[in-house]
Amino acid sequence: MTTPASIKARSEAAVARLCVDLDALAHNYRVLGDAAAEAVVAPVVKADGYGLGAVPVARRLWAEGARRFFVARLEEGEALRAGLGGERPATIYVLDGLPASGGRRVVDSSLTPVLTSLPQVSEAAAVSRVLGRPLAVGLHIDTGMSRQGVTVDEARALALSTDRLHGLDLELVMSHLGAATDPGDPHNWRQLERFVAARALFPQAQASLAASAGTFLGADYRFDLVRPGVSLYGGGPEERPDARLQAVARLSAPILDIRTVRAGERLGYGSGVVLEATTRVAIVGAGYADGVIRAARGQGYAWFAGARRTLLIVNMDLLAIDLGDADAQLGQPVELLGEHAQLDDLATAAGTVAHEVLVRLGRRGERVYLGEV
Ligand SMILES: *Cc1c(COP(=O)(O)O)cnc(C)c1O
Repeated sequence: MTTPASIKARSEAAVARLCVDLDALAHNYRVLGDAAAEAVVAPVVKADGYGLGAVPVARRLWAEGARRFFVARLEEGEALRAGLGGERPATIYVLDGLPASGGRRVVDSSLTPVLTSLPQVSEAAAVSRVLGRPLAVGLHIDTGMSRQGVTVDEARALALSTDRLHGLDLELVMSHLGAATDPGDPHNWRQLERFVAARALFPQAQASLAASAGTFLGADYRFDLVRPGVSLYGGGPEERPDARLQAVARLSAPILDIRTVRAGERLGYGSGVVLEATTRVAIVGAGYADGVIRAARGQGYAWFAGARRTLLIVNMDLLAIDLGDADAQLGQPVELLGEHAQLDDLATAAGTVAHEVLVRLGRRGERVYLGEV
């Protein structure tokens, strides 16, 4: 028996739905590949692929040619290794490095820790002694974020000592830029200068400095390997919508009710809005529990019937948009994130970055993957 199309359309839109568009992800991977030129693109899939599913994301990127991935936590590396399976022997770098007594787990899942401190370097050397073979590692050098990595002086001391790196196969030295979303900030070239000096201490290792934004800063910043995250998922490298990239996260939710709210009436909780003019609003079945950040109310917008519609309120399960005089019917889907309701615009409206919007996309509602995994 077949379902009539109208009933199907309605039932499809019955709850909030997050579509993860893997074809758009593949498109963005190619855009980053073009921008990276000779450098290798090593996707960052930490925080469960920025909330979109590290395993399906990495599997698709593997099919597109990616062979090296970054995660933040050891657990994420273990889950990714299991999810990729033996037929996809990717290099998986762990940005946390080697947590105390994490050696066994790093070895069991063939992870490559990016060491972030001198004690971690000693720990890694001890692991390799127990193993009786070299351990592949990376080294994070802090060039101006004061957040993670050994200092440039510590890196110099390491390079000069003959035994501290003994047993370690140092294959990657990396650093991270603090101001790459602002190409005009002189801090970028200050960090670049320090990194050029630091990486020269380890000529046998490949070098990596750029994340998404850095990849677009110019050839000097790209070195051997770039580590994009957010731009793979559709966030502009300069934290605003970028025409080269496609939306990977598409969030929509159905209209549950259409009401006319008279001037002077309140909409939502006490902290909500008092409407100055009589307004047709659509109540939509998604809220901050589905990832629409509450702080976006007033500034943010949804997309419906060919136009931007202001987000009037965002509650946990419901939000309201200003419908204007648009034709609307119950059950029709409203685009909350996607091609028109742009990720970076929602982030700006909420006073945050696209990274945070993505990782907050809830687990509630429906989640579907578009395109081949
Ligand atoms: C998260 C992270 C990245 C990716 O950053 P995006 O801005 O998402 O491209 C790259 N390198 C390091 C060290 C990171 O922590």
